[in-house]
Amino acid sequence: MAHDHDHEHEHDHGGDDGHGHDGDRAHDREAVEAEARRQLALAQIRQYGDPVLRLKANEVTAFDDDLRRLVERMTALMHDAQGVGLAATQVGVLRRLFVFEPDEDGPRALVNPVLVEQADETASDSEGCLSLQGVRVPVERPVRAVLEGKDENGGDVRLELGEYAARVALHELDHLDGVLIIDRTDDEHRKEALGVLRPRVVLG
Ligand SMILES: [Zn+2]
Repeated sequence: MAHDHDHEHEHDHGGDDGHGHDGDRAHDREAVEAEARRQLALAQIRQYGDPVLRLKANEVTAFDDDLRRLVERMTALMHDAQGVGLAATQVGVLRRLFVFEPDEDGPRALVNPVLVEQADETASDSEGCLSLQGVRVPVERPVRAVLEGKDENGGDVRLELGEYAARVALHELDHLDGVLIIDRTDDEHRKEALGVLRPRVVLG
């Protein structure tokens, strides 16, 4: 899932005029490098139109170094891409796991996730996706959810998630079943999103 940028980047420049200041130059350079890393990460994440995004991922059976390396790689990509979640499907690996970081508790991996409980109450909020760049659509999700699965070492995990964390986790769980946010929004927003996602003609 992509980050909501609307509330960011407003706290950096304080009261100064933003010109010719060493701190600002360092900050600008940091921002340029972060953007370069974000673009590099996005180039490694499967984008809408790639058929792999529509496939159902398979249960993980081996909790080995290969799996742990995949979790490390996905966590790094999620950070670089400035997302709050990333499913293995999005890196072209059809295994049932995702990483997410919905809060300050640090990144977590959930392997073979199963939705075991969800609130009847739902809420609608705007979601983006690292595989659907430029799209944000309202998606209705349960306001609480309990997911069970394993960590990357095979240990049991049970996550009791509040509204935002549940939203992120259920978005990632959808990816493992080939489901995207445009499938979960209303017709009007789906139509608008498909307009944005329509493959662009490249000239030259
Ligand atoms: Zn997504």
